[in-house]
Amino acid sequence: MAPPLLKQYQEIKRQYREELLLFRMGDFYELFFDDAKIAAEALGIALTSKPIGKERIPLAGIPVKAADGYISRLLERGYKVAICEQIGTAQGRGLMERQVVEVITPGTVLLPSLLEDKKRSSIGAWCPLRAGGEEVACAICDITTGDFVVFKGSRERAVGEFNRWSVKEIVVPEQEEAPPGFNVTRIPSSYFDAWDREEYLMEIFGVSTLQGFGVERDSEYSYPAYALLRYLKEKKGNTLPPLSGIQVINLGDRMFLDLQTLRNLEITERIRPGEGMTLFEILDDTKTPMGGRLLRQELESPYTVIRPIVERLSRVNDLVQQPMKLEALKSLLAGIGDLERISTRVAAGKGNPRDFLRIGEGLQKIPPIVSLLKSLDSFQDLVSELDDLGELRDEIQRTIVEDPPASINEGGVIRDGVDPELDEYRSLARNSKARLLQIERKERARTGIASLKVGYNSVFGYYIEVTKPNLKFVPPDYIRKQTLSNAERFITEELKELERRILSAEEMALVKEKEHLERLREIVRINAKRMHALCMKLAEIDLAQSLASVAVRRKYVKPEIVEDDVLEIEEGRHPVVEAFIDEPFVPNDISMGEDRIFILTGPNMSGKSTYLRQIALIVIMAQIGSFVPARRAKIGVVDRVFSRIGASDDLARGVSTFMAEMIETAQILNQATRRSLVILDEVGRGTSTFDGMAIAWAVLEYLAKKIRAKTIFATHYQELSSLEGALEGIRNFTIMVKEWGGGVVFLRKVVRGTSDKSYGIHVAKLAGLPAKVIKRAKEVLKEVESRSRPVRYVKQLSFFEKSEGGDSDLRKRIVSLNLDEMTPKEALDFLYKLKEALER
Ligand code: ADP
Ligand code: MG
Repeated sequence: MAPPLLKQYQEIKRQYREELLLFRMGDFYELFFDDAKIAAEALGIALTSKPIGKERIPLAGIPVKAADGYISRLLERGYKVAICEQIGTAQGRGLMERQVVEVITPGTVLLPSLLEDKKRSSIGAWCPLRAGGEEVACAICDITTGDFVVFKGSRERAVGEFNRWSVKEIVVPEQEEAPPGFNVTRIPSSYFDAWDREEYLMEIFGVSTLQGFGVERDSEYSYPAYALLRYLKEKKGNTLPPLSGIQVINLGDRMFLDLQTLRNLEITERIRPGEGMTLFEILDDTKTPMGGRLLRQELESPYTVIRPIVERLSRVNDLVQQPMKLEALKSLLAGIGDLERISTRVAAGKGNPRDFLRIGEGLQKIPPIVSLLKSLDSFQDLVSELDDLGELRDEIQRTIVEDPPASINEGGVIRDGVDPELDEYRSLARNSKARLLQIERKERARTGIASLKVGYNSVFGYYIEVTKPNLKFVPPDYIRKQTLSNAERFITEELKELERRILSAEEMALVKEKEHLERLREIVRINAKRMHALCMKLAEIDLAQSLASVAVRRKYVKPEIVEDDVLEIEEGRHPVVEAFIDEPFVPNDISMGEDRIFILTGPNMSGKSTYLRQIALIVIMAQIGSFVPARRAKIGVVDRVFSRIGASDDLARGVSTFMAEMIETAQILNQATRRSLVILDEVGRGTSTFDGMAIAWAVLEYLAKKIRAKTIFATHYQELSSLEGALEGIRNFTIMVKEWGGGVVFLRKVVRGTSDKSYGIHVAKLAGLPAKVIKRAKEVLKEVESRSRPVRYVKQLSFFEKSEGGDSDLRKRIVSLNLDEMTPKEALDFLYKLKEALER
């Protein structure tokens, strides 16, 4: 490595200290020094070294052709990457000029290989409204679509919103606390409160006031918005896609589903990857990635205001009523593709010729969609006056050939007839080829060599080839260029001249083609806002289409959405479970008015958890404007859904979770309102029986007396049923089972009352516990049930008796257990070991 090159490297590296600098050298991006070590370790590539003076410096390289894959992996590990390209050409023997053209960070990725079609990819920023305060102002930018939003709320709520936008990186002021679980970028606080921040925003968004966006003067939104934009501008430079404008989100219009609730209900992520399905997957029949992204986002934060819900419902309803239209709409949408991300990519200068074609093809589907939907009232505000960007579509179709190559570099992208100059260069190139044949014919005649050929090779250019036996006929004006084993190659002045014209015509044609592509790119860029508005409407249309298709296929009905504080579901079903089980799903009702604390008891495996979740899922579905799996549903809009699972039912979490369970319960008691829906599944189970029951009891009392949120509480503590009657608003329900031939049959029907028996032993039998154990368990149960007071001690099971020698060890182990300290997982593991030992 020559010293001047090293100096150039170091000068650039100085400006990009936190990034890994990818330094372009020919066909490779090279990394040096520590960057090389990091990359070699992260990518598993060779770390070598290069001599410089007497020393050697560490070096690692990645081929430019395969760079995307490597960069993806670096970003996944949380690194930032600065791409330094060679620009211009080396002057004489001097140094190639180099410049960083783009910085890629985890939150600012445009590489399609790093993006999921149906998931956003964003970067966020936050700052507290008051130093150390709980409230924060936030901005989020999805640079793959050009969305830019601002909002404010509690820290917890902000994190929820970051997740909903799939924020991958968050920008915070230097001293500020950052939320856990995100790639964090700390920037000086002066980036947040620059005095000219509003002017800067106006300039970037090309407006003379921010009020058009709903952002008042001196608004708290200007701080995070400014910091985020400055950061983006600094890192992306000209590769920052055009942004659509600032959108203010009012979190009050949206339901907050906290992480526990999202997880428990498996709204968009599965609890165990590879098992089961999410609500998102059940409802997703979207035909465009834009629709898919919208569906996911809506599910993670449904509406809490009636109007938009009712609007969506009537769109879905209209499509359900018109199956032919629905089918036609589906196939039109399927031809649109990811218009939003493709056009953003193109506008950022990262599109290829086929991307232009796709934009054209997508836009072509808009007019037929409009004429399909314009007769439906519910779609009026989406399709009447829909801006279909007709001129852009026409321009693309007029300009780009039907089947363009993936890269512009070989040319052949722009149609004939678009540009007379381009046509002329092309015909020059073509005619020149005819001229070559003419020369061949002429030279054959002149020399009398019938086998004389004009050919082309990339090193010597055009040549005349004469075989060895004919060399004696070669005229003196031929200039020898190359000797082969059986022939020699020559050039002539005439041939040279023609060659120059052909090559320059082709080169000029390519320059022209690139100019036209650049012109189209500029049109796409200028129209970015219109494109964004169109894509938002398309996403809504696709969402309605998806919900309607699923409603038809799965026989959902339109819920009635009301202001009243009621919840009535007739013959409701669990949307995911019903899609999975082989037996028919047993539907169940719920009707909650003034009495609204429901205690649900029933044996294990009878269907308690399923029932609880189905109520919550139906409410969530209804509030995104979806039809619901039921015969009839009347739903008073809820402000929030809480769902908690008792620790022992939540083995996936593994660690001792009783504490977590209590923290979560506390959260509900502190945050739920009368308009909330609270789903508690065996809460209190993570501790010993009596503690657990006492806590559950107290929680229920508080919910019934203070909060009065609609609550369903599943429990196996029979004792809790005595709360009905003692406290207003509490009602007992149980799931019916029938005893039949020594076993029980689960009827899965939810009815008023309490279950009078525990069928746990039956479940144990189903699970394959040895007959000896089952028999003994029945004896113990009888004994326990015959006593009036709760029992702690039951006569020892025979196989634990000391007299049986070898088993005394087992006995000791059990006696020494501290049940209150064990995690559910440890307890289960112990049981397995016990069973194993007994079977031996
Ligand atoms: P619990 O919480 O009472 O232990 P679950 O709700 O986990 O019971 O239900 C156990 C299984 O029973 C479910 O996995 C499902 O296969 C089946 N099941 C539950 N509810 C129904 C229903 N209404 N109709 C048909 N099968 C059901
Ligand atoms: Mg359960």
